[in-house]
Amino acid sequence: MPSPLRFASINRPRGLAARAMLLVTGLMAVTAALCVGVVLLGAEREGARQQLAITHDMTIHLAQRTSEVIARGNAHILPVMIKGAVQRDDVRAISIHDAQGRVLAQAGATPRDARLIAEIAARAMQSETEIYSREGGVLTVAAPIMRGEERIGVAVRMWDRDAYRFDPFASLAPFVTLLALLALVALPITALLVRRAIAPLDQLSRFAERVAQDGHAEPLLLRTGDEFETLAKAFNRMIVRIDESMRRIQEIAFVDPATQLPNNDRFVREVDYSILHAQGEAAGAVALFELQRLPRLLQTLDPSATRDFLRAVAERLTAATRTVDSVVRLRTANDPPAVAARIGAAEFAVFAPGLSQPGDAARFAQHLNAALNQAFEWRGHKLTLGACCGVALAPRDGKDADAVIRHARMALGAAAQAPSKLKVFTQSLDREAMARLTLEREMRGALESNEFRAYFQPKINLANGRIGACEALARWVRPDRTIISPGRFIPVAEESGLIGALSDAIMREACWKAASWARAGHHVNVSVNVSALQFRNDRFADGVLRIVQHAGLAPQRLELEITESVVMEDPDRALHLIKPLREAGVRLAIDDFGCGHSSLSALSRLPFDVIKIDQQFVRALERGEPEGEAIIDMIIALADRLNMEIVAEGVERREEAAFMERRGCHWVQGFLYGAAVSAPEFAELLRRQAGEEITAIDAA
Ligand code: C2E
Ligand code: CA
Ligand code: CA
Repeated sequence: MPSPLRFASINRPRGLAARAMLLVTGLMAVTAALCVGVVLLGAEREGARQQLAITHDMTIHLAQRTSEVIARGNAHILPVMIKGAVQRDDVRAISIHDAQGRVLAQAGATPRDARLIAEIAARAMQSETEIYSREGGVLTVAAPIMRGEERIGVAVRMWDRDAYRFDPFASLAPFVTLLALLALVALPITALLVRRAIAPLDQLSRFAERVAQDGHAEPLLLRTGDEFETLAKAFNRMIVRIDESMRRIQEIAFVDPATQLPNNDRFVREVDYSILHAQGEAAGAVALFELQRLPRLLQTLDPSATRDFLRAVAERLTAATRTVDSVVRLRTANDPPAVAARIGAAEFAVFAPGLSQPGDAARFAQHLNAALNQAFEWRGHKLTLGACCGVALAPRDGKDADAVIRHARMALGAAAQAPSKLKVFTQSLDREAMARLTLEREMRGALESNEFRAYFQPKINLANGRIGACEALARWVRPDRTIISPGRFIPVAEESGLIGALSDAIMREACWKAASWARAGHHVNVSVNVSALQFRNDRFADGVLRIVQHAGLAPQRLELEITESVVMEDPDRALHLIKPLREAGVRLAIDDFGCGHSSLSALSRLPFDVIKIDQQFVRALERGEPEGEAIIDMIIALADRLNMEIVAEGVERREEAAFMERRGCHWVQGFLYGAAVSAPEFAELLRRQAGEEITAIDAA
């Protein structure tokens, strides 16, 4: 499944190495520039110092030479001598003076130079050492001419400073070469070192990128012993925690905690995903299962037992899902396996990807439904859950999961009535559902305007052949006087929850009418049908007793008909619910006996007064089927032993009535004696019967 959580993209600093290199190179460049400056400054100082030294030496040399020339008495060659010396580029002027400052020879000097020279020469005669002067870029040195200890004159040499021009390139050349060499070696090494230094950071950043992309990553192993290692460990712990949290979130969001099966949300996603990927082709079949007796059962279990039992159901379903291949060729190699999910308290679902044929889908669902319908051995009990199944195909029955599941649910609604307890969705089912909705809407209105009326079918006491009781049966009497029978509206009323109000209305009318007949001297028992939904209400007995009391009917005159399947769904609860009714004197009948699965031990514990033999056995009798007779015999024998009265319903022919009488049945009810009629008509029947009685007495 794709990870639902994605992290915001993190910009990994790819240029980190480049930046570090830039920094190092920058530092190197600044250092180099500083070095160049220092070198240049040094070189210039050194040049100036050398110039001074040379000037000094040469001036002293000139003074010595002059002293030698004068000593040899060749003073007259002095002008020639200095003329040669002044030829040099850097020498500007030379001048030789005697002790009195008179010029003995002078060359190269401008009048201005001559003045300066004279002045310096005068100072030099006074000084112990050489005299230096710098002025306007001209260096002038004056040295005394000595003969032994005696100072006999002064030699002055004037230098053009420009002649010693400083050449920075020449001074820098070796340094630059060195620098270049250094860069050649140092830069790659520095680059290498920088790369190595930031490698863990790079790993961390790659790791972060992977996490950002996939939501998780393998743990990062860094053994640097520094902050990087700490960071990596923190990252790893974070990822483990994030993984755990994600797993928990997914679990909470998508797994049913009791069964560990996918929940409704996950199931919907799964179906949607398949529909999307099938791109209009057959995506698969959705089968919904309702376990009708499960809610009741779960109410009696504690939470841990509930979980255990649900898990057993889930296991049964998943196991059946796995073996479904033996029934239908479900899958091509590409199809993923079928998915089972718990999508409601008592609702499970299976999605079979790749299933496209309604026939295959029905067979597949039948296999699973049969598995769910097998009894569960549970803590010493055998429990059947009454599974029904509705199937829909994707995308035939819907473009998305919601639509397909809605249609499967519609089929499920119809499945309870189907003999196979299974329905595949069809368009006509859709129309039926719409019709049901309309009916439901109309029924709400009809309830308000009192259109649901009790009709009464006589029950004949076989001991005297007279109407001793009646059964109240609901009829919907429309304003146009058309009458709708319960077969049409009871299922809708049960589905929509309207059955409560409807049954109350019938019970109220039945009790009021029976009370009024009793006041008129016609004492007949009235029986009223109880729906499964009413029986789910814990305050059921209170409601009934209140109605009886209001109507002023003796409780012994009321009989409640509860179907065998409702009673046997949970005999203990039935016992608990009817106890106050029994104590008040209300009679209780088991309706449609022979259709459900009565346990004999449960039956003997339940204090019912009446067993009503279901019409199907009377019909079997009519068809001459020997089993019908055998079953009726058995029921009558059982009722005798349990001290219960017997009512046979659906008696249409005299032979049936005669058979029942022979076998010791107490009451009969059926078209032979009359269908259900309105209250005034039934009152008329009672009056006529009473009249006949009087006539009979009169005749006697
Ligand atoms: P049920 O309780 O088994 O009622 C007996 C049904 O058999 C009635 O159908 C009755 O009209 C019909 N019947 C009676 N005698 C004969 C006969 O000789 N031959 C044939 N073929 N049928 C006969 P109805 O009135 O259509 O009621 C159908 C079912 O609807 C009832 O079955 C009962 O389960 C339910 N029902 C009717 N009224 C009420 C009510 O007020 N409350 C509840 N909860 N259910 C009701
Ligand atoms: Ca009945
Ligand atoms: Ca019946």
